[in-house]
Amino acid sequence: MTASFKTLTSDGQVLTPGDPAYDEARTVWNAMVDRHPRMIIRCASVADVVTAVRTARDLGLEIGVRCGGHSVLGLAVPDDGLMIDLTPMAGVRIDPARRRAYVQGGALLGALDRASQRYGLATTAGNVSHTGVGGLTLGGGMGWLARQHGLACDNVLSYQVVTASGDVIRASRTENPDLFWGLRGGGGNFGIVTEFEFQLHEVGTRTLVAEYSFPLDAAASVLRTWRDLNTTAPRQATFTASLSRDGQLTAGFVWVGNPAAGRRLLPAMRALGRPTHTHVAEMSYVDLQRREDSTGRHALRRYSKGHYLRELPDAAIEAFLRRGGGADLPNVGLQAYGGAIAEVSDEDAAFSHRATLFEFGTGISWTDPAEDVSRMAVARRAADALAPFASGVYVNALSDDGTDGVRRAYPGGKFGRLVALKDAYDPDNVFHLNQNIRPSR
Ligand SMILES: Cc1cc2nc3c(=O)[nH]c(=O)nc-3n(C[C@H](O)[C@H](O)[C@H](O)COP(=O)(O)OP(=O)(O)OC[C@H]3O[C@@H](n4cnc5c(N)ncnc54)[C@H](O)[C@@H]3O)c2cc1C
Repeated sequence: MTASFKTLTSDGQVLTPGDPAYDEARTVWNAMVDRHPRMIIRCASVADVVTAVRTARDLGLEIGVRCGGHSVLGLAVPDDGLMIDLTPMAGVRIDPARRRAYVQGGALLGALDRASQRYGLATTAGNVSHTGVGGLTLGGGMGWLARQHGLACDNVLSYQVVTASGDVIRASRTENPDLFWGLRGGGGNFGIVTEFEFQLHEVGTRTLVAEYSFPLDAAASVLRTWRDLNTTAPRQATFTASLSRDGQLTAGFVWVGNPAAGRRLLPAMRALGRPTHTHVAEMSYVDLQRREDSTGRHALRRYSKGHYLRELPDAAIEAFLRRGGGADLPNVGLQAYGGAIAEVSDEDAAFSHRATLFEFGTGISWTDPAEDVSRMAVARRAADALAPFASGVYVNALSDDGTDGVRRAYPGGKFGRLVALKDAYDPDNVFHLNQNIRPSR
């Protein structure tokens, strides 16, 4: 153990192989990830994060940064490196009068939602409550409130950041605005965020989910109608569609706001056709936000791919339904964008693809390591089938796509601007276990 650990605050902890808590701390969401950091520093304060960054640099160790641990590649866990574990920094403080949430860099979405909802407030957060605020927000952050209030990153007013050199700085529209731009969608490339300041919104506490199931032979016509209905959907509604492994299509929407207003959309949904099953349910916002916690649970082997689609022509619907063919087919889904997401100028943040109409995703889970290759191939085939219709990709939906994937996430001049920012804030690429923007030198 080096002398620098002495500067960890009292709740900070160093774990090395053999420590009782080591295995649990290195375990992340995707059970395929089985890496062994040389040490894990569980940070309890900003000072601990500074110590961890400096220690890693002194020892020449690769850094992985862990918040929720949901990166599908398990990028938070460096083999033989130093894992900076932010999970003890999970606090959320709400200022209801100013409608602000101050969220530590290791917090999970559920903590943010629960704390904000005590006041009927919320900000955009993802759909599974055990996902990390850190990784989700730094990549953009899609959720059921995004069409009303923008992505999670659009609601960040300021960041507190530990830089690659171990300095603590702030980024906002007025302080280090170049960094503020890059942190809004550029991922974990530019530093470790120890606190996010979020704008909250009065959203009430109630929601409505409307889902209609159909057999595969009706699916093409249902999806065409669903797509057309989406064009006039109010912002409170986020249209969703999913096709299960066994070929059942479920289409409908999630509504955040007064459920009675959401119910006014139900008659229009009759145009979809005659469903085999209808599920219309009101629930609290907090329950909506954890509704998919179990399907998205830990401890399974996982792989996923995604695309952004600016249009959904009939041919894309056919490709969505065929999923690349083969005997084994993956779950696939579509989620609507638009509304407030599209109103932010493309230049305003590193996040790109504001004109996205739907996000396509395919996710697959299994338990037997012997199936790794074949199961991943199934998801790749489905993603390849949709590729001709794709306009780009969400950085947080990238898996093993490499530099090509990162370039697809930041088209046009965005990529070059991010490289320049990397040169300025992390020229040695200390933070490279992420969807990496490499410095130019
Ligand atoms: C079940 C599930 C549901 C999801 N649902 C959604 C969704 O609804 N909407 C959506 O937009 N995305 C969603 N995602 C994708 C998700 O945004 C990414 O997987 C994201 O990387 C997860 O962040 P994390 O903090 O949990 O993961 P981690 O693995 O802990 O972090 C991922 C990366 O983010 C960086 N990072 C994390 N925290 C910090 C920090 N404080 N400072 C600096 N860098 C940091 C690091 O580079 C790290 O490698 C989902 C993923 C899963 C697995």
